[in-house]
Amino acid sequence: MAMPLLSSSDAAHVSQACETYSITTAQFNALLSRSQSAKATAYCPYSRFRVGATILTHDGQFIDGANVENASYPVGTCAERVAFGKAVTEGHKSFKALGVATDITPPASPCGMCRQFIREFCDLSTPIFMFDKDGSFVVMRLEQLLPLSFGPEALPPPSSLPAQG
Ligand SMILES: [Zn+2]
Repeated sequence: MAMPLLSSSDAAHVSQACETYSITTAQFNALLSRSQSAKATAYCPYSRFRVGATILTHDGQFIDGANVENASYPVGTCAERVAFGKAVTEGHKSFKALGVATDITPPASPCGMCRQFIREFCDLSTPIFMFDKDGSFVVMRLEQLLPLSFGPEALPPPSSLPAQG
C-alpha cells in the first residue's frame, strides 16, 4: 500500500491531514517538533538509530519518549513503548494521535511489537504521523498498520474471572 509522502512545510498538506484526522494545526506542529526534539533524548549507543515519539491525549496534553537500548540488545525498548509507558503510568487514559520521528527518509513506521502495544491503549482509528528526517510525513490509522488486530475486548474482563489462589 503506497501512502503519499506529505510535506509539513506545505500548508495545504498540513491542513488536509489535520482535517482528515481531527487535530489542530497547532497540535500537528507540536507532534512534529516534539517528536523530533525527543530524538535527542534517545539512548542508542549501539544502533545510533534515534527515534522520538510524542503522544497527544484527548485533553490536549503531550507525552514524549525515545528509544532506550541495552547492551543485551533485545532488552532495548522502542520510543513508542517508552512514551506509552510514561503516559499510562502518569494516569493518561485517552489518546488522540501519535507522532514518530526518525533521521531517515522515507519515514519509518512503528515496529510490529509497538503496533500491538499501541493497540492496547488506542482506538483503531487513531492516526499515527510518521515524520522523516526533513519533517515530511506519512500518516496512517492504527487499523491500517495493524489489520485484524487482537485487543483487550477479545479477552474476558478480569472481574469475570475466578479469583486465583
Ligand atoms: Zn517498536
